[in-house]
Amino acid sequence: MALVHNWQIGRAMSYWYPEARPKRQIGAVFDTNKCIACQTCTLACKTTWTSGRGQEQMFWNNVETKPYGFFPLGWDVKLLAQLGAQSWDGDKYAGKTIFESAPAGERVLGIRPDDMDYAHPNIGEDEIVGQVGRGGHFFGTHQAWMFYLARICNHCTYPACLAGCPRASIYKRPEGGIVLLDQNRCRGYRECVRACPYKKVFYNPHTRTYEKCIACFPKIEVGEQPQCFVNCIGKIRLQGWISTPDKVREDSPVDYLVHVRKLALPLFPQFGLEPNVYYIPPVHVPTPFLVQMFGPSAPKAVETYRHAREDRTLAGLLALFGSTYRTIPRFKVLDDTAIALDDSGQELVRVPIREPVFVRAAKDSKRGVWRMNTP
Ligand code: SF4
Ligand code: SF4
Repeated sequence: MALVHNWQIGRAMSYWYPEARPKRQIGAVFDTNKCIACQTCTLACKTTWTSGRGQEQMFWNNVETKPYGFFPLGWDVKLLAQLGAQSWDGDKYAGKTIFESAPAGERVLGIRPDDMDYAHPNIGEDEIVGQVGRGGHFFGTHQAWMFYLARICNHCTYPACLAGCPRASIYKRPEGGIVLLDQNRCRGYRECVRACPYKKVFYNPHTRTYEKCIACFPKIEVGEQPQCFVNCIGKIRLQGWISTPDKVREDSPVDYLVHVRKLALPLFPQFGLEPNVYYIPPVHVPTPFLVQMFGPSAPKAVETYRHAREDRTLAGLLALFGSTYRTIPRFKVLDDTAIALDDSGQELVRVPIREPVFVRAAKDSKRGVWRMNTP
């Protein structure tokens, strides 16, 4: 075991291999407040990469309804229960990561799902938690909530799948930090899926090897965002590059949202993988749930998001989500316009920060009808 630094948990931790960060690390932000669970991302990925034999129950991208949706069944709650106490001392994680809690003789604390755990990819869809009294109004005084969580491989800085593989079949590309699996080396030992807490490696019973999200690297290489990003109906996704806290670039969209504004947070940072997909947390979910899922900065992030409209830079950057098929390494905001830039500073796209809103009159005098406007 080596000692490495994990900035998401604010301390050093033990990992199976020494720290070896790529030249550049792919990073992404998902805004959970905008996801409508249309599953277009899921199908965009499936039709591109996993429509072949043996890939039937594979979803490199999935969208689940929290708190009761899971794919595979119970992937997060089972591990959280095994991990034990997960307390934070300010921004420093005081509990143990899945590497530090590995049982004797194992590299990672993990759980291997059963085949049946993959049988219902959209279980729990739209199920709410909390009580709705008889005759009570859904969104009134009753604490009913749920939200949609879109998930892909996090292309982690400290991948558990890589640490767990006894064949060294998994590697992290130095170019963009994308985590890939060499199927020629894979012997289907199933250690990667046991180790990955996010369960983003999948077994192909036809080839008897494992497969995983490749972050659409052929697109990344030509400066384009992955399929699940460009096809997202809700425009919840933005792909760029993430730096470590000592090398933050304020003009990098991902750096700005993660490091500068601390609005976008990692999923289960306490697992210790330093995942590189970041989430803007939902604003309507009880704080303890958000803290467990996104770490201690979640309440502050919710407050920042609630006031984002009053902040020109932030509102401008949020308007750039889903605005172009190109990767956005840089951005700037001028007056009422947000501009996405490529690495050389060339403009990719510009969008207005505020779009006009037209409110139709409740009474249409011409047709003599009343409209059902939603207030
Ligand atoms: Fe590996 Fe899982 Fe991290 Fe992806 S999310 S890099 S499969 S540990
Ligand atoms: Fe959510 Fe976008 Fe996927 Fe639709 S396409 S489910 S809005 S992430």
